[in-house]
Amino acid sequence: MKDIDIKELGIKIRQKKLRKPQLGYFNPKTLTIVINSEQSEALKHSTLIHEFIHAVDYQLQDTKVSKRPIPHKTIEHLAPNLLTLFSLAGFWRGISKKQVWKFFTGLEETQKK
Ligand SMILES: [Zn+2]
Repeated sequence: MKDIDIKELGIKIRQKKLRKPQLGYFNPKTLTIVINSEQSEALKHSTLIHEFIHAVDYQLQDTKVSKRPIPHKTIEHLAPNLLTLFSLAGFWRGISKKQVWKFFTGLEETQKK
C-alpha cells in the first residue's frame, strides 16, 4: 500500500509501525489516517476503510448532520464487508480480488468459532 493524499477531501493516509493491537487511527486535527505497517495487505485495506468511516463520521458530527457517532461495532463489521464488495465489484485497487476474498473468508471462519 502506498501513501496517498486525497486532496479533495484534505485527507492524508500514512503507514507507520504502531503498537499492537492498534491497526490504525484517524486524527481529526491533522485529517490524517495512519495505518499500522505491521499487518497483512488485506488487513491494511480493511483498516483504511474502517478509518475512512471514522473520518466521515467525524465530519457528519462536526457539521451537525449526525447527532450520535456510528457505533464502533458497526464500523468493525462494515469495513471488511465493504472492502470485499468494492474489490469484487472492481472499485478497489492495490490488492487482488483473490487476496481480499481469502481475507474475507478467513474472517468468516474466525467469526463462526
Ligand atoms: Zn475504530
